[in-house]
Amino acid sequence: MKRIETTCVHGGYVPGNGEPRQLPIIQSTTFKYDTSEDMAKLFDLEASGYFYSRLQNPTNDNVAAKIAQLEGGAAAMLTSSGQAANFFAVFNIATAGDHVVASSTIYGGTYNLFAVTMKKMGVEFTFVAPDCSEEELNAAFKPNTKAVFGETIANPAVIVLDIEKFAKAAHAHGVPLIIDNTFATPVNCRPIEWGADIVTHSTTKYMDGHGSAVGGAIVDSGKFDWLAHADKFPGLCEPDESYHGIVYAKKFGKEGAYITKATAQLMRDLGSIQSPQNAFILNLGLESLHVRMQRHCENAQKMAEFLHGHKNVAWVTYCGLKDDKCYELGQKYLKNGSCGVLSFGVKGGRKAAEEVMKHFKLIPIETHVADARSCCLHPASATHRQMNDEELLAAGVKPELIRLSVGIENIDDLIEDVKQALDALN
Ligand SMILES: *Cc1c(COP(=O)(O)O)cnc(C)c1O
Repeated sequence: MKRIETTCVHGGYVPGNGEPRQLPIIQSTTFKYDTSEDMAKLFDLEASGYFYSRLQNPTNDNVAAKIAQLEGGAAAMLTSSGQAANFFAVFNIATAGDHVVASSTIYGGTYNLFAVTMKKMGVEFTFVAPDCSEEELNAAFKPNTKAVFGETIANPAVIVLDIEKFAKAAHAHGVPLIIDNTFATPVNCRPIEWGADIVTHSTTKYMDGHGSAVGGAIVDSGKFDWLAHADKFPGLCEPDESYHGIVYAKKFGKEGAYITKATAQLMRDLGSIQSPQNAFILNLGLESLHVRMQRHCENAQKMAEFLHGHKNVAWVTYCGLKDDKCYELGQKYLKNGSCGVLSFGVKGGRKAAEEVMKHFKLIPIETHVADARSCCLHPASATHRQMNDEELLAAGVKPELIRLSVGIENIDDLIEDVKQALDALN
């Protein structure tokens, strides 16, 4: 395998002699066959090929192959959004009557998906603090636990997960670890190298990186031995009657079973496919991912250091700062940098934070993060505005917290903007 920068540019699509240099957008819902026998083989999963873009599309598969190479995985698929990726990743192995252990500091949308919507579907979740002890983590498992879930860098808490600790507990209980690697991206962390079995992405964030295309991805390491825990994973280890009784783990092996099942069953039935147009845009983003991530991290580090020294700033959360509580974990898992997102608290609480927000000139207010363009948000007056100060603290969102997604502009311009906004306080 080539180095990560080269894979960002060349991974996935490899044109043959005289074929288009750029990834073609196969804008076709359907694919043509000469005989019914050819088609029947596809429907029986006896041959691989395309028949309908609700399940699979060649443009998507080329981009998924690039992401699999970037993460060091065996197989991957694209989904219509990050939400769909995390839903498919869990639902592929945990259904009604099952249980999942998850880190408590995950993206709010994922928390809702797990604690509200999947709960209605009969999947139960236990949330554990990411910095819990091994004993506390092990105590969260039940006989019906089917997976463990966490985020490399939590959105929006920007804390770093001890992936090895979570992998060890998952494997001790015979279940896979699923890691949402959206904020770190494979440029800065490859969770599979630390023991994760399945990696998910909201490609909407850094991978696209230009705020252009909502999308998601799931990568399977191909390392988890489903058949060794066959009693826990009947969906992979027992016959699928909707495909003439094939057993995914036997027919497709460790490397192919998980993604084949997610495609053949979940994509077929739920249809959360990414459009080939969006996959094309995502691929353009991936070509510069390594260059952008480096600049995001350099800029965010300088911004964090500036904020840390400003008299109107009470605290800064960024694992690149030596006194950050995640500094050690950052040094271990994110040697080349973490991401461009940081949060800070303004002295003077909610009122002062609201005042600072009024003065940003270059940096606009957006709910989005992880984009080439810097943006900021005051959650207490936006995404979390229905909560009072007490509820905010319980949710880990202090009233004075401002989230800043540092882009790839010139850092001096960004710091000047933040400085004049902070200085406006007195
Ligand atoms: C945004 C985000 C998601 C959800 O992704 P969408 O593409 O918005 O559906 C999931 N996980 C993390 C860490 C995110 O930041």
